[in-house]
Amino acid sequence: MAQIIDGKKWSGISREETKGVVDSLHKQGVRPGLVVILIGEHPASMSYVRGKDKAATAAGLYSEMIHLPSSTTESALLQLIDRLNGDDRFHGILVQLPLPSHMNEKAIIHAIAPHKDVDGFHPVNVGALDLGLSGFVPCTPLGVMKLLTYESIEVAGKHAVVIGRSNIVGKPMVQLLLRHNATVTICHSKTQDLPNITRQADLLIAAIGKPNVITGNMIKPGATVIDVGINRVNGKLCGDVDFASASQVAQYITPVPGGVGPMTIAMLLQNTVDAAMKLAH
Ligand code: NAD
Repeated sequence: MAQIIDGKKWSGISREETKGVVDSLHKQGVRPGLVVILIGEHPASMSYVRGKDKAATAAGLYSEMIHLPSSTTESALLQLIDRLNGDDRFHGILVQLPLPSHMNEKAIIHAIAPHKDVDGFHPVNVGALDLGLSGFVPCTPLGVMKLLTYESIEVAGKHAVVIGRSNIVGKPMVQLLLRHNATVTICHSKTQDLPNITRQADLLIAAIGKPNVITGNMIKPGATVIDVGINRVNGKLCGDVDFASASQVAQYITPVPGGVGPMTIAMLLQNTVDAAMKLAH
């Protein structure tokens, strides 16, 4: 039976570490600030944004949530971002995705000042990650790396297989694994014979967004399995990995919920505090 990687526990520890940094910044007269913008009434987004706001306040950050109707125009949102780029209270600006269909997601992300882009989605930060330069790294893959570090799971020299090639999870995950000297294979919806590839993984990371795609017979005995997926089946949350069968074969596994999810918020706080520290020093 696999050892469960407890994301809730580790995110609590990470948030405490961040709070320590926030306390020392307060003593220097700096209060890290985060503003989260939500457009529309997407239920999952509303709950994510509330969670981010609550966690930021608990860690001692100045946090503001701006909730606008889905009828908001793209130019009104661009003007708001422009104003927030120049507002010193905020070191981090996050626009919750997905946006209503009348908005151009790229134009909105590109409008955020790269030094306030704590989601790490701006091309300047994406480029920095690819080039091995410092910049903001997207929170979910950063949270995965932090979990591996906390659990002392070796990455260097290991064969990591990432399933999913999105800009938010899959691609930055690949870059981070390369940075940590893993040998990386990327799989996606057009990959042929997925089980043959996943069975070669020492470290298997699923970021697919479909329930139970990865089953125990697709996993190498003793592998580490990280399940990024968040799916809802009959009202219940589950990941991309069939936990029951996978946990019989893997050595380490993350549950859903309570695995990668809580780390994403913890890394958002870390990125915001990093943004404030960069300005303070
Ligand atoms: P996405 O839809 O943008 O990307 C999914 C990827 O999976 C694509 O690259 C696609 O090629 C690949 N894929 C689809 N079906 C496949 C199949 N049958 N076999 C192999 N590859 C397949 O999704 P995303 O934004 O990367 O998110 C992925 C999942 O992670 C979603 O469930 C999302 O909700 C979740 N997520 C979780 C967190 C978190 O905090 N835990 C954060 C972001 C995303």
